[in-house]
Amino acid sequence: MGTDNFRKEYIELVASVREYMEEQLKLGFIETELREPEQQSPYADFDLPALATDAGNCTKCPLHETRNSVVFGVGNTNADLMFIGEAPGADEDRQGEPFVGRAGQLLTQIIESGMELKRADVYIANVLKCRPPGNRNPEVDEVATCSPYLIRQIELIQPKVIVALGSFAARMLLDTKIGITKLRGEFHECNVAGLRVLPHKKPPVIMPTYHPAYLLRNPNAKRDVWEDIKKVLAFLAQG
Ligand code: SF4
Repeated sequence: MGTDNFRKEYIELVASVREYMEEQLKLGFIETELREPEQQSPYADFDLPALATDAGNCTKCPLHETRNSVVFGVGNTNADLMFIGEAPGADEDRQGEPFVGRAGQLLTQIIESGMELKRADVYIANVLKCRPPGNRNPEVDEVATCSPYLIRQIELIQPKVIVALGSFAARMLLDTKIGITKLRGEFHECNVAGLRVLPHKKPPVIMPTYHPAYLLRNPNAKRDVWEDIKKVLAFLAQG
């Protein structure tokens, strides 16, 4: 009996230490692995509020000159599921929130009517935090400069699955040049250099699919997206 009590207390102690360490890591107070200085994220010690504040004042690429808002991200900061798009559009730039225009409404419909989740249950962000003028494609330099914000967001949120919306998000997360049509429909390993993951956690898996803006122009592709989303739901249901 005494041994059983001791074992129980020991298990509880280990669980509480693990919980404490996870919390500290999430807050950015500790790191789980050492990396070469050149790979060290500039935001390694940032928690989400600090990261959002830093991004809010960011002038690291020319997009700061034309933006109205920095669109950092929105949703559940403990979400198992993250959606990552390309960059804010005009509506998002005005409102400071990702995916609020027509494409955003379609994404909300996918989440709420299709997945039967609330938009607030998931976390939504973009690769770029500022709007490229005229909704032009992001430049390589802009993605390289801005992506450390997104990488740190992923580290802090620690989702199980990331749905990469469109080719820019998929290319960045998978470090590939393969197009979205070939990538979609299957889970891929996350290939973000230097992404830190808790020792007992797995890196997020990536499901690339079409961007909702593409679906507005090509409604027939909604069927494909729904197939991809069903796979995500099945993955999440496994726990
Ligand atoms: S797009 Fe990113 S790197 Fe460029 S100014 Fe905005 S937050 Fe900074």
